[in-house]
Amino acid sequence: MTMKKVLLIAAAAMFSLAAIAQPKVIAHRGFHAKKGSCRNSIEALKQAQKMKLYGSECDINMTADGVIVVAHGYLHPDKIYRKGEDIPRLNIQKSTYAELQTIPLENGELMPTLEQYLEQLKKSNKTKLIIEIKNHATPAKETEIVQKTIEMVAKHGLNDMVEYIAFRPWICFELERLVPKGTPISYLNGDYDPTYVEGMGITGIDYKFTVLQKKPKWIKQCQKKGLTVNVWTVDKEEDLRWVIEQGVDYITTDDPVLATKLIKEMCK
Ligand code: MG
Repeated sequence: MTMKKVLLIAAAAMFSLAAIAQPKVIAHRGFHAKKGSCRNSIEALKQAQKMKLYGSECDINMTADGVIVVAHGYLHPDKIYRKGEDIPRLNIQKSTYAELQTIPLENGELMPTLEQYLEQLKKSNKTKLIIEIKNHATPAKETEIVQKTIEMVAKHGLNDMVEYIAFRPWICFELERLVPKGTPISYLNGDYDPTYVEGMGITGIDYKFTVLQKKPKWIKQCQKKGLTVNVWTVDKEEDLRWVIEQGVDYITTDDPVLATKLIKEMCK
């Protein structure tokens, strides 16, 4: 065997053992599994900051009187997590901020405003806020929440600490039109292929785990185009291992502790 061949084989072996790129962990609706925390609460953001996670995700909606609140919606309290409870539920976008304040979150906090969330965000320079702008009733309302959010983030000097995600293409377009250049924007709905997303002028995809499982090629196709790949919401160990092996850029999870542990173990 020539020396050249030996070197080539050695290089190939090294390449195959090359470390898997380390994905960034984003706590889905904040780190809510901790005692005293709950989804989309200030405490959930605080706990994500305490863990020094890359990001903490939150959902925002605009109330009937134009206040931007952090809540998944469209009902408060969220139907999914407080099933079977005989409690009044308010439609967030059709209620006033004052009305929403009458029903506390599961951890006793009152529904936070985006303004309050940004005040908490400032307390650490490690953890970014991944803001999901929810669909609203009309494109005009969606433009309004996009404009107000971008203005508020800029006013707080947090342009570099915020990234955006949305299901609605219109919201993505409005974000792209109005954010400072270079601000990450990812599309959530899972139905557009990498070429279409590239054409949208945004920076990446943030697709449901099952979508990427069916179309794993989209991961590398996006990355070749310079688009980032985020995946939601990955909580089971086997699923986390799979997305880490696929080399996604971000993982959005309800279990940031397990995700962080597996990344440490697998991406040496
Ligand atoms: Mg969300």
